[in-house]
Amino acid sequence: MTHYVAFNAQRAIDYVSTLIDTQQCDFFAPGQTLSAYEFGDGNLNLVFRISDEHNNSVILKQALPYARCVGESWPLTLDRARIEAQVLLNHGAICPQFTVRVLHYCATQALTIMEDLGQLQILRGAQNNAQQFPQLAQHVATYLSHTGFYNSDFYLPAQHKKALVSQFTNPELCQITEDLFFSDPYIDHPRNNYPQQLAPHVQALRNNSALKLAVAKLKARFLSSPQSLLHGDMHSGSIFVDQQNTKMIDPEFGFFGPIGFDIGSFIGNLLLNYCAQRGHIADFVARRNYQTHLLSTLVECYSVFEQQWVSLIEQHTTEQSFKVAGYSEQFMQQVLQDSIGFCGTELIRRTIGLAHVADIDSIRDDDTRLSVQQQTLALGEQLILNAPSCNTKDAFFSLLISQLN
Ligand code: ADP
Ligand code: MG
Repeated sequence: MTHYVAFNAQRAIDYVSTLIDTQQCDFFAPGQTLSAYEFGDGNLNLVFRISDEHNNSVILKQALPYARCVGESWPLTLDRARIEAQVLLNHGAICPQFTVRVLHYCATQALTIMEDLGQLQILRGAQNNAQQFPQLAQHVATYLSHTGFYNSDFYLPAQHKKALVSQFTNPELCQITEDLFFSDPYIDHPRNNYPQQLAPHVQALRNNSALKLAVAKLKARFLSSPQSLLHGDMHSGSIFVDQQNTKMIDPEFGFFGPIGFDIGSFIGNLLLNYCAQRGHIADFVARRNYQTHLLSTLVECYSVFEQQWVSLIEQHTTEQSFKVAGYSEQFMQQVLQDSIGFCGTELIRRTIGLAHVADIDSIRDDDTRLSVQQQTLALGEQLILNAPSCNTKDAFFSLLISQLN
C-alpha cells in the first residue's frame, strides 16, 4: 500500500502479515493466524488490538485525516502520528520504564504499532472507582522531570535543541490546545458545553478582567516558550497504571512548550477527580480518605518533580551561563507559577469547554454535578488569579487547602 488508507480490522491484519512476511517485525512468529478488532475510545484515532493464536498481542494506532469525535468536518493532519511516535521514542529513550514501547512506525499509513498495555488500567476510570496508586506520584514526577530536563536548554547544545524544536513543530494540534484551553471558555463559542444553570457562573468568569489578563499571559507562554519537549496531553486518560507500573501513552499533542504545562495538566486532573468524588463516594469518611489520597499524590508529585529538577540542574547542566547563582531558583519559581496557572485553565476548560471528563459527567445526580462544576470553575479561577503570588510549592499547597475546605 503506497497511499494512505483508513484501516478496518482486516486491513490491520493484512498490514501486520506483510510486516511478518517481509521480516520487518519480530513481535509475531511467522505462520500464525492473526485476529484484530477496533476498540479505541479516544477522541481522534483508530486503535486496533491484533492477536496471534497464543494471545500475544500488539496495539496498532492509526490517525484519521479528521478528528474522529467530530467527523470529516474537522480535518486534522496525519502528521500527528509522526509526532506521537517520535515523542514516544524520545521520551522512551530517557524514561523507558514510564513510556509505552513503540514497535513500528509507518509515515504513509500514519500508524504506530506499540506494546499492548491491556493488563493495566487507564487512570481516569480507576480513580473514578476510587482506586489508589501509591507509586503514581513518584513515577509521573520522574517521567516529567527527566524528559523535561534532558530536552531543555540546561542540557541540550543550542543547535541540537533548535533542530528538535523544528522536528516537533506541531501547529495544528497546538492550535486545538490554544483554542480549547485559553480562548473558547472565555468567549461565547459553539464548541463550549455547559448546562444552562451554570451560565451565570460562566458569565462572571468572562466579566473578570483580571482573570482574562492572567489567561492571556498563560496563552502567550504556551505559544512562545519552547522550553522542553512536552507530552502535551497529560490528562488521566493518557496514563496506564497498576500498583507497580505507570505508562504514558498518546503524546500526539507533543511539542516544545512551557515545562509547567504537563505537570499543571496532570495535577488539574487530580483536582477534577477530587471535586467529582462528591458525586461518587457517598460515605463522608470514605470520601475524605480518597480525597486525602489524591491531595497527597498531588503534593508528592509536585515535590518530587521539583526536587528532581533541582538535582538534575545541579548535576547535569551543560550550559555554563545557567550555573550563575540564583538562576535555577528563579527558573523553578516560574515553572511553579506556570504549573498552577495551567492547572487552573485545565479545571475551567474541562468544566465548560468542548472536552469534558468522565469524572464529572458521569455524576448521575444533576444537583450534585452542578455543584461540582461550580467548585471546579471557582477553583480554576482562584488558581489562575493566585498563581503569580505563589513563590514556593508550600504556598501553592496552602492555597489549595484553603480553596478545598
Ligand atoms: P486518542 O489519541 O484517539 O485519544 P488514545 O491513544 O488515547 O487515542 O487511545 C484510545 C484508547 O485505546 C485508550 O483509552 C486505550 O483504551 C486504548 N489504547 C491505546 N493505546 C493502548 C496500548 N498501548 N495498550 C492498550 N490499550 C491502548
Ligand atoms: Mg489522543
